[in-house]
Amino acid sequence: MTELLYLKDCYLKEFDASVIEKNDSHVILDRTIFYPQGGGQPCDKGTLNSIEVTYVKKSDLGVMHFIKYPINGNKVHGIIDWSYRYKLMRMHTAQHVISAIVLDSYDAETVGNQIGFDFSRIDFFPFKPSQENLDFIRDEFNKTIDKSLNVKKYFSTRQEVIATISEKRRNLFSRVPETVQEIRVVEIENLDKCPCGGTHVDNLGEIGHINIIGVENKGLGKTRFTFELL
Ligand SMILES: [Zn+2]
Repeated sequence: MTELLYLKDCYLKEFDASVIEKNDSHVILDRTIFYPQGGGQPCDKGTLNSIEVTYVKKSDLGVMHFIKYPINGNKVHGIIDWSYRYKLMRMHTAQHVISAIVLDSYDAETVGNQIGFDFSRIDFFPFKPSQENLDFIRDEFNKTIDKSLNVKKYFSTRQEVIATISEKRRNLFSRVPETVQEIRVVEIENLDKCPCGGTHVDNLGEIGHINIIGVENKGLGKTRFTFELL
């Protein structure tokens, strides 16, 4: 399996690794900082030995890095496109903050999300926000960001984490399959705890303010938010 270096340190920009398996189209490494597509976050872009990585996904054997040309040898030096990844980290952490505000203020859960470079989407249920609600969420978000709260990323056992979370957040954690005993927790101090395997900033001050640029009624009580970073 591939060791996922980005889970412990989201700020790694380069790494060295050994090849576990390869063919002309992809390579599986013993360790990586490339985020594989999943959980609403797109995969990283970058290079391995200066060869472009076109797509990254998880498989049973480890993380598959699809490459433009075959790689020679069994050692690689990898570099990710940091400006792309860092924007996604800021976006993904912003999504957690918005989801926490909507859950705490309106009891609506996040049932889907798609993080993007220019804008991101979140689906809430059950939620039919008024303009007043939207203004409140944006203002609350911007006020929260201005507090520069720390964002901690760590592993915890299911029992440990369940014992320390509010009733409202139990559902989020109970959706993690029972087979997963060590849960990756993303904790925003004094605001939120959420199970998530994504990449996140260390401090909310890095995100800046947001604009909610679209609100769509998806029917049956589901609402889709689209937001951008200012
Ligand atoms: Zn997440």
